[in-house]
Amino acid sequence: MKKITIIGAGIGGLTTAIALNQKGFEVEIFESAAEFKKAGSGINLATNAMQVYKRLGIYNEIIKNSNVTNSMNARTKSLKFLTSINLKPFEKEFEVKTVAIHRATLHKILVQNIGDTKIYLNKKIKSLKQSSGKVDIFFEDGTTHTAEIVIGSDGIHSAVRKSIFNKTKLRDAKQICWRGISNAKINEKHKGELNELWSKGKRFGFVHISMNQIYWFALINRKKSINKDINLQELFSDYHPTINTIIDETPKEQILCNEIWDLKPIDKWYHKNICLVGDSAHATTPNMGQGAVQAIESALALSICIKDESSIEKAFNKYQKIRKEKANHVTETSWRIGKIAQLDNIIIIVLRNFMMKVLPTKITENQNRKLYKLNF
Ligand SMILES: Cc1cc2nc3c(=O)[nH]c(=O)nc-3n(C[C@H](O)[C@H](O)[C@H](O)COP(=O)(O)OP(=O)(O)OC[C@H]3O[C@@H](n4cnc5c(N)ncnc54)[C@H](O)[C@@H]3O)c2cc1C
Repeated sequence: MKKITIIGAGIGGLTTAIALNQKGFEVEIFESAAEFKKAGSGINLATNAMQVYKRLGIYNEIIKNSNVTNSMNARTKSLKFLTSINLKPFEKEFEVKTVAIHRATLHKILVQNIGDTKIYLNKKIKSLKQSSGKVDIFFEDGTTHTAEIVIGSDGIHSAVRKSIFNKTKLRDAKQICWRGISNAKINEKHKGELNELWSKGKRFGFVHISMNQIYWFALINRKKSINKDINLQELFSDYHPTINTIIDETPKEQILCNEIWDLKPIDKWYHKNICLVGDSAHATTPNMGQGAVQAIESALALSICIKDESSIEKAFNKYQKIRKEKANHVTETSWRIGKIAQLDNIIIIVLRNFMMKVLPTKITENQNRKLYKLNF
């Protein structure tokens, strides 16, 4: 059996390693970071990700170290409901819960479950070259490595993707996002809720990742007048006082700030014996909370195809057939939701809020059911 080389030890790369390792493959990972940092943010793992982790046998460990999300709510800035999705029926239907978890905790669980997979840290790849069934990997430290099969899970700016496809395009959503972990004590009723508070050109989301910790994110439209050092308390001073309490109880030095980009859906996810998984293949904006979840789906689907198919190219082709439509649908839908959520024309906002209130829940439920269902 051939050895499989993974580039990037993020959620996508590690989940792929776990899945391949469990299927008996020898796996190695090259990661650019010198150490795994305790990133100050959380992540919501929707039902589709949790089904994958159940199949990989790490569901209970994740449940033990996270907080269960029972509902997803869009609200006004004063916390009034616009729409609400009850996750309990999905929990029953798919036999898994939705959770929110600290990213570092998830990362640690994944690393603990990669079996005998070797991780080489501080190995940033510069480029790859395919020749006669092999792949030469060139690292920034000047060293090289020859691999038989390469899986690029090196994120949205993927060097692996750039080595095999030269015409892919990143799209700028023109939004800035701050993320943090707060120790605030807020009304108990919010414990199982993922809330997003929408207003004019900005929104604020929060969800508990444990009994005492809240993961929050804040997005605004990027304008020349706004810089990343802006005072968030001031920016959200017109919001419900809960939001200011959450921001106030966050260690400021741990707040992350990013611009929001995605990858315009690409036609092909593989070339010969190199294949992409996660953000390198299908990076999306965070508006549906599905970026990592899609990476997790892709990881398991890819491992099944590699195990089942008679050649690596057939496996990559089948994997792409299984996954591409859904992942691209998420990218495009999330892009549109981002525009709707960040509207800054007050008349259109009033119309949007009205539409959200009257939209039959059956429609949203059916859309979510489709999203949560695995097709492999
Ligand atoms: C603000 C925000 C909020 C989000 N919230 C959610 C959410 O609630 N739910 C959800 O499902 N998703 C969410 N996402 C998306 C999610 O973070 C990504 O989709 C997910 O992390 C992708 O995982 P990945 O492993 O493919 O890539 P990454 O997490 O980017 O990992 C790539 C890895 O490769 C390494 N690497 C990069 N370049 C190289 C190189 N040249 N050589 C070697 N190694 C390299 C990196 O160091 C990293 O470890 C959010 C994203 C953002 C920006």
